[in-house]
Amino acid sequence: MTGILDSFGRSINYLRISVTDRCNLRCLYCMPPEGVPQMPHSEILSYEEIRTVVRAAAELGINKIRLTGGEPLVRAELPKLIKILSRIEGIQELSLTTNGTFLKNYALELKQAGLSRVNVSLDTLKADKFQHITRLGKLKDVLEGIEAAKEAGFHPVKINTVVMRGINDDEILDFARMTYKDGWHVRFIELMPFKGVAEFVPSIELRQHISLLGKLEPCPDSIGITGNGPAMYYRLSRAKGTIGFISPLTEASFCSRCNRMRLTPDGRLRPCLLREDEIDLKMPLRNNASMEGLKRLILKAVASKPEHHHLEGGNVRLVKRKMSQIGG
Ligand code: SAM
Ligand code: SF4
Repeated sequence: MTGILDSFGRSINYLRISVTDRCNLRCLYCMPPEGVPQMPHSEILSYEEIRTVVRAAAELGINKIRLTGGEPLVRAELPKLIKILSRIEGIQELSLTTNGTFLKNYALELKQAGLSRVNVSLDTLKADKFQHITRLGKLKDVLEGIEAAKEAGFHPVKINTVVMRGINDDEILDFARMTYKDGWHVRFIELMPFKGVAEFVPSIELRQHISLLGKLEPCPDSIGITGNGPAMYYRLSRAKGTIGFISPLTEASFCSRCNRMRLTPDGRLRPCLLREDEIDLKMPLRNNASMEGLKRLILKAVASKPEHHHLEGGNVRLVKRKMSQIGG
C-alpha cells in the first residue's frame, strides 16, 4: 500500500499544493469583492522549494499531487513547475484545479509538460449568473477552456460545481443533462458555509432532484473516473458522463476516507482544511534543512491529522486564511 498511515489508519497519499494566493476572479463563497491582502512574492515558495517538498513527500509514499490556488494559472510559467514535478520519482498523478478562464491558452502546453488531469470549477451555465457569482469572469472563456482541455487530450475533464440555495440550485438538472449531451463528468460540492454567503444544499436533496431525469446508478471504481477521492459517483442510464457528490457536511463517513494534506503558497503544511493547525516548511527549506528533516516534519503533520472536522450545522471560521489561500 502507498501513502503514509495516520493515527486513524487512513493512508495519506495525496498532496494539494496551492501555488498562489492570487486569483483573477472573486467568487462569492471564496473571496470578498475587494480580494484579500496578497502575500509578498518573497513569502511564496519558489518552484525549486516546491520540488524539494514533493521529493520528500514522494519518498514517504505520496504519489498524487494536485496544483490549486488562488488561480494556479495566474502564477507565471506554471507549465515549468509541472515539468519539474512530473519528473519526480514516485509521482503517479499530477493534476490541476482551475477556474478555467485561462485554460484555452494553456491546455496543450500543460499536457505537453506532463499534467495528467484537469478539474474545472463552474457553478452556472448562464452568462449573467456567472458574472454575478465570480464577480469578474466570463462564462464563454471557461466553456472554451473545457473544450480546449478535451482537445489537448485530457480525459476526463471533471467539472466541480458548488451548489448554493437560491443562487444556482435551479440549474442542477441542466448540469446533469450535460452528462448525456457532452459527456461531462460533473461533481456537485456542498458549499462550506461561510457566514452570509448562501445556504448549502445537501447532496441527498440533489440526488432526489436528479432522479427526475432517470435512475442514478452507482458507478464502479474501475472506470478511471472515480479514483479514491472524496466523491461518490453515479451515472444516469445511457449517459457518457458521470455525476459525483462531494458531501463534507452531510456524509457521516466523509472524513474517514480522507487521503490528503495541503501545502499553502507560503509553505505551510495543513493537515486538515478546516483546522487552523499548520506546520511550517518554508523556514526549514530556507535554512537548508536535510531531506530527513523535511520528511520528519511531513510525518509530524500526518500524525496530527484530526479524525474529523466539526462542521455539522455550523459556520466555517477560517480565522487566519481564506479558502483562496489554502486551495479548497
Ligand atoms: N481557482 C481555482 C478554482 O476555482 O478551481 C482553484 C482554487 S479554488 C479555492 C478550489 C476549489 O475550491 C474550487 O472548486 C472552488 O469552487 C472550491 N471552493 C472555494 N470555496 C468554497 C466553499 N466555501 N465551499 C466549497 N467549495 C469551495
Ligand atoms: Fe478564485 Fe477559485 Fe476562489 Fe473563485 S474559487 S475566487 S476562482 S480561487
